[in-house]
Amino acid sequence: MEQRQVIIIGAGLAGLTAGSLLSKKGFKVLALEESTAPGGRARVTEKDGFILEYGAHSYRYAEKSGAHKVMTELGLTPEWIREDHRSFLIKGKDLYPIPGGKEPLAEDARRYFHKPEIGKVKEAMEKLIAEKPEKWYRKSLADFLGNILQDEKIMLMIRLIGLQVMESDPKRVSAGELIAHLRRAFEAGVGAAQLKGSSRVFIDKMVSAIAQSGSELKFECVAFALQIEQGRVKSVDTSEGEFTPEALIYAGPISHFLKLASPAHLPERLVKKLKRIEPVAGVAMDFALREKASELKGWLIDPELGIMGKFPSNLDPGLAPSGKQLSSWLITLPPEQMTDPEDVRSAIHRLRSQIKKIFPDFFGLVEFERILALPVIDGAAITHKQSREDRPRVEIPEVENLFLAGDGTATPGVSGEIAVASGILAAEKVAGYLGGKLI
Ligand SMILES: Cc1cc2nc3c(=O)[nH]c(=O)nc-3n(C[C@H](O)[C@H](O)[C@H](O)COP(=O)(O)OP(=O)(O)OC[C@H]3O[C@@H](n4cnc5c(N)ncnc54)[C@H](O)[C@@H]3O)c2cc1C
Repeated sequence: MEQRQVIIIGAGLAGLTAGSLLSKKGFKVLALEESTAPGGRARVTEKDGFILEYGAHSYRYAEKSGAHKVMTELGLTPEWIREDHRSFLIKGKDLYPIPGGKEPLAEDARRYFHKPEIGKVKEAMEKLIAEKPEKWYRKSLADFLGNILQDEKIMLMIRLIGLQVMESDPKRVSAGELIAHLRRAFEAGVGAAQLKGSSRVFIDKMVSAIAQSGSELKFECVAFALQIEQGRVKSVDTSEGEFTPEALIYAGPISHFLKLASPAHLPERLVKKLKRIEPVAGVAMDFALREKASELKGWLIDPELGIMGKFPSNLDPGLAPSGKQLSSWLITLPPEQMTDPEDVRSAIHRLRSQIKKIFPDFFGLVEFERILALPVIDGAAITHKQSREDRPRVEIPEVENLFLAGDGTATPGVSGEIAVASGILAAEKVAGYLGGKLI
């Protein structure tokens, strides 16, 4: 049995964030990653000169994001490429500009709303931004907007906003989470952005910070059980033997945690939360195109079908060879449909036919494509039943040396931002627990 100071299970954004920050501060980390490469659901691959993120990826708060903070802390100045270009609503073969930016209801709103409706939608938006999120985490947008929501045009508006938090159903999306996201986005004053050079820049920096500090990142090493005794993680069983940690961070998908730890050794409150976590699932499709199919730089969104897509290389030409183009699409599905191959096939078909309607020549230009059927896109859908108040916290007071990190934790943010922010928090908590101060 080998002794280690800090063991981290999982080298996705959360585990790498915690691992690199702790390593930089002099803690000795052993990070275990079951796959052959780092990055988890944000990993990046390169093929024939195309740099493929793991599906369409963007960072919601750019310079104000956790990722920016971590990269700066590790000595890297990230370059952000703004995504403040016009986005479009897909309707059949047509694209309609989406109201967006700081004046979301100004210009383009007239395409969707009659004058009296604009007043109502404005009222709804102002009410949202002005409200304190804490009161509304466990309530849906439908609850929040009460009778105003009956109007289907307002539904449309809200569904467009809702997609920013990967949940577009007003009856499900947590009003508090949406308010918190919108307020943060407005306060940050920066829209979403792509990281120049892709998430690979961020991931590589964190991996090298771990390597340079004498910590270790083991690939193809699976953790399969935690032994918890008397309120402490005593050891972790892995495919490479048993390790005893002073502190352990679990940074795998949160909905998988109970596969490693017996509920008998965890507080009932935590077990209940873990059992209820429902991720966002779906299919990601990336297309390497031998010629340009579109000059569009913004997102294309179909809220009815849960489809989003963009051409990342139109923003960052370095992602595709000269004259070629990368196009990335995502269709979200209820998690139970991911287990039925027929449902998955039909989602892929919907996505393909939608792309073909908008760009009839698209499929003639495809050099290669990659389809990812994903049981977990975001660790937890931000619904009113699993807002941050219902997700597990990073600390578990009943098990003093165990910490959780990842995009299914209660940490503030949306999607990958939660993962990074939880990694920062877990590193702080571990440093505090081990008697050192981080940052
Ligand atoms: C297609 C797609 C598009 C997305 N788009 C965006 C976006 O635009 N913006 C955004 O902010 N977020 C986006 N996300 C979400 C974002 O990628 C995730 O929130 C983030 O990557 C999650 O990081 P994580 O570290 O919490 O988990 P993961 O990335 O899942 O990392 C967990 C790691 O743990 C490893 N692991 C698990 N179990 C074990 C074990 N037992 N032993 C050893 N290793 C283990 C896994 O292999 C994995 O590497 C997207 C996700 C997908 C899939």
